[in-house]
Amino acid sequence: AKELGRNTFQFYSREMNTATLERLMMESSLRHALTGDEFELHYQPLVCLRSGEIVGVEALIRWCHRDLGVIMPDRFIPVAEETGMINPIGDWVLFEACRQAQAWIDAGLSLRTMAVNVAPVQFRQAGFVEMVAGALGTTGLAAERLELELTERTVMHDAEFTLGTLSALNRMGVCLSLDDFGTGYSSLAYLKRFPVGKLKIDRSFIMDLETDADDRAIASTIVNMGSSLRLTVLAEGVETAEQLALLRQMGCSMVQGYHFSRPVTAARMTELLRDQPFR
Ligand code: C2E
Ligand code: CA
Ligand code: CA
Ligand code: CA
Repeated sequence: AKELGRNTFQFYSREMNTATLERLMMESSLRHALTGDEFELHYQPLVCLRSGEIVGVEALIRWCHRDLGVIMPDRFIPVAEETGMINPIGDWVLFEACRQAQAWIDAGLSLRTMAVNVAPVQFRQAGFVEMVAGALGTTGLAAERLELELTERTVMHDAEFTLGTLSALNRMGVCLSLDDFGTGYSSLAYLKRFPVGKLKIDRSFIMDLETDADDRAIASTIVNMGSSLRLTVLAEGVETAEQLALLRQMGCSMVQGYHFSRPVTAARMTELLRDQPFR
């Protein structure tokens, strides 16, 4: 038992060293990633459930590392948040997403919404509202086309500050949506307080929709509440035709997920916007 204990300890300490090392490497190379042009945005369609039309896209960042290959955001966004690198990275995402949206519009493609994720730290950085205004001004994208996706983690702290920032963005015409809806603690209070236009039902409630009656109850409650409050409700992570059918029955208005498309490159998204294959 003693030996096992020692082995276990060694195992964990080696794991930890690997994790620490990876983190250190990531921290230093994150700094170079921006200047080295290693970030790329992929886009996933936001589909109108009724018509099948792609009415918007969500921008999702990828890090194409020279040695490590493609690193997904779940792995490096937390590190970027802790080190403050999320601010310049987030600024880049916002400008690039607005630029691409306007390029699609200039090319004659119809695109109502470019949705961009905003990290809590980024939302709270000084001058965030001005930075958003700058991205819109520089790229020429109409504010109404930009939708910022905020999680409850973002709006949770300091309600006064949050309300002030959201109101300023809302006055500019920027749309706001609550991401991963239903996973936080005080969802309902936020809906009343903040000028939000869309709810994105978290994928965890959609995943087992076919088999789990509780998930169906939760999803349909969010859909009904959303429509009572005149909010658009979008279901995330739709992977099957059965899930889609259930969401249609519930009266959900928008969907997003692998059933339609995985996040794709801008070039592929251009084709999807032109061909509208889900209509
Ligand atoms: P999210 O905002 O909830 O984005 C949706 C995630 O679910 C994406 O993962 C997307 O690829 C994935 N997804 C979409 N449909 C399906 C489906 O049908 N099945 C499954 N299994 N997954 C699906 P991704 O791109 O790896 O992003 C993960 C998270 O990283 C995002 O979650 C978001 O929180 C964060 N993130 C991504 N890009 C950015 C960014 O530019 N800025 C910030 N601050 N966060 C970002
Ligand atoms: Ca999102
Ligand atoms: Ca989400
Ligand atoms: Ca999520």
